[in-house]
Amino acid sequence: MAAAAMKTVTVLGSTGSVGCTTLQLLESDPERFHVQALTGGGNWTLLADQARRLRPGFVAIADARHYQSLKAALADLPIEVAAGPQALTEAARRPAEWVMAGIVGVAGLPPTIEAVRRGAVVAFANKECLVSAGAVMLEEVARAGATLLPADSEHNAIFQVFEERNRPQIDRIILTASGGPFRELSFMEMRAKKPAQALAHPNWVMGQKISIDSATMMNKGLEIIEAHHLFAMPEDRIDVLVHPQSIVHSLVAYRDGSVLAQLGTPDMATPIAHVLAWPNRMAVEGRAMNLSEIASLTFEEPDPLRFPALRLAREVLRAGGAAALIMNAANEVAVARFLAGEIGFTDIVRVVERMLESAPMRAPGTIAEVLEFDAAARRATQTMLDEATPIRDSNGQDTIAFAAASL
Ligand code: NAD
Ligand code: MG
Repeated sequence: MAAAAMKTVTVLGSTGSVGCTTLQLLESDPERFHVQALTGGGNWTLLADQARRLRPGFVAIADARHYQSLKAALADLPIEVAAGPQALTEAARRPAEWVMAGIVGVAGLPPTIEAVRRGAVVAFANKECLVSAGAVMLEEVARAGATLLPADSEHNAIFQVFEERNRPQIDRIILTASGGPFRELSFMEMRAKKPAQALAHPNWVMGQKISIDSATMMNKGLEIIEAHHLFAMPEDRIDVLVHPQSIVHSLVAYRDGSVLAQLGTPDMATPIAHVLAWPNRMAVEGRAMNLSEIASLTFEEPDPLRFPALRLAREVLRAGGAAALIMNAANEVAVARFLAGEIGFTDIVRVVERMLESAPMRAPGTIAEVLEFDAAARRATQTMLDEATPIRDSNGQDTIAFAAASL
């Protein structure tokens, strides 16, 4: 059998959780992959170590304060080093066939769109870009003839079992959710939770932002919107089921009663390998699944009262305009404030809800507008939080009272 052709790849956000898993897969088959560029946010020591192992032609670090350190660490190697936001876009411009969009948040949009615009195959782990740019992103993908591959585990599962040729026969798609670390807690119990507790996800090891999003279930809210864009499904045909074992990664229900699912261990290596080898497949060591050991798979309806983020995401899709962008921006700001110990856990979704009540913004028409509206929504959220009054509620919990938001 002829060896598969060498694939050139770039990893945006290589120092993150998704990035590190992607690099492990690349290193598992060095004959098959050649790395063109790697990018990191601030962890220059890890980025230098990765560059030494994978030998890309170009590395970029977003935080320019680390430029000299990174450059010195790689001085003996023929690797170009650059820093700052422009360097990230330059990394994405390098002609790799396949690009992992693994940066967290809308910060990943400028480099990701650069890869899209040159027609690359782009694996989307980053969901915030798709949620915020929505239709504008899909237009860019179509215009450039780029290929968007879903790397988020649920969307990758759906991608594997969604028969496009039978689209009229698809009744609904069902996203599974682990329920996060607070699945069984009352709203009152959740209120008292601190960052370290919210970060301790029962099944998945992930970056900080998505771990908090999993605890609030805002992650599933973002994923409903992500699924709407990726699979052109209306909001009322996207269901969410809590499945605490995280083995069934999502399902597609057909009108003949068949329900197709993709199963696997809760590990991003499998969905990332799927998009990395696509349209073929590759082997991943140690991910064989033993269903008899797992023994039981359970499913339950999510509780809309304890997890209001799911309702908000559905309202956002029905509202259209810039609602999804505002939801995402407000959430990014609120999660950062929670991690900094400035607001309580249940305040995160309250902040998002409050921001969504502010004057509606029209839908962005271009990527430049997405970035502009996103910056405005972040500023408005910061201002609202700066002006909020810390209070102690009747249960003795610290929380905040805020004035009306305005965009
Ligand atoms: P992470 O925090 O572990 O890593 C994020 C990466 O982005 C790092 O390389 C970081 O240096 C870089 N980065 C952060 N801020 C940056 C900035 N301002 N400019 C440039 N680079 C910056 O996050 P993660 O868990 O790997 O998640 C990455 C994305 O993938 C998120 O959008 C997340 O929702 C999505 N995702 C993650 C998982 C998972 O298992 N971790 C699963 C599904 C989807
Ligand atoms: Mg997911």
